[in-house]
Amino acid sequence: MPAFVVEHLDPELGPWSTLEYACIARESHAHGARFLLSSVPAKLQMPAELAATQGLEVEQRSVENIFAKDKVCLLDPSAQVELSPEDGDHFEVFLFGGILGDDPPRDRTSELRKKGYVGRRLGPKQMTTDTAVRVTRMVVQEKVPLEQIPYVDYPELHINAHERTEMPFRYVIDARGQPIMPDGMVDLIKKDADKGVGDLF
Ligand code: SAH
Repeated sequence: MPAFVVEHLDPELGPWSTLEYACIARESHAHGARFLLSSVPAKLQMPAELAATQGLEVEQRSVENIFAKDKVCLLDPSAQVELSPEDGDHFEVFLFGGILGDDPPRDRTSELRKKGYVGRRLGPKQMTTDTAVRVTRMVVQEKVPLEQIPYVDYPELHINAHERTEMPFRYVIDARGQPIMPDGMVDLIKKDADKGVGDLF
């Protein structure tokens, strides 16, 4: 059973991350994979709806204190090699940065790269963390080659009749061609539209 590990790198755990992490937990659980949220500060108050999500394992330890280094593959937007289905045979743990996406990206994944993990890329575009986990699962568990996964880049969300907002990320699309986002995310974005999406990430 593979394990997906998101190392939480922000001091806070806001509504955006809550929706992403709950989505990762549910999907991992449904597909027979573990999901660990690591490096969670002891004093961090976990949002109740996240804590109650089936499939979530909360860890105060950081990833290097849980798993042997040679079992871990870091998903790294700066890696030289793309993730392939065979990586699912070599690695047991797939590690992601628990960082809100930023535009332009500030390369905070480097905090994990410094720990010396083997890195793999998921194509040239920045994804949200839940998208990166979804794509990794499709490649290493379902053995779908990266280039066969259907994507949309920078989709526009219609906030209301007058406003649209462009999401500066790559998303997997569903059978109807719609970007897959965590439950509640579109409502959160609409609710916060006045503040500007930039403040959410
Ligand atoms: N802005 C952040 C990236 C946030 S995306 C940065 O500057 O690093 C959150 C996590 O998703 C990343 O840490 C990485 O593990 C994964 N990820 C997102 N897009 C990726 C890509 N194209 N290739 C590999 N990993 C990716």
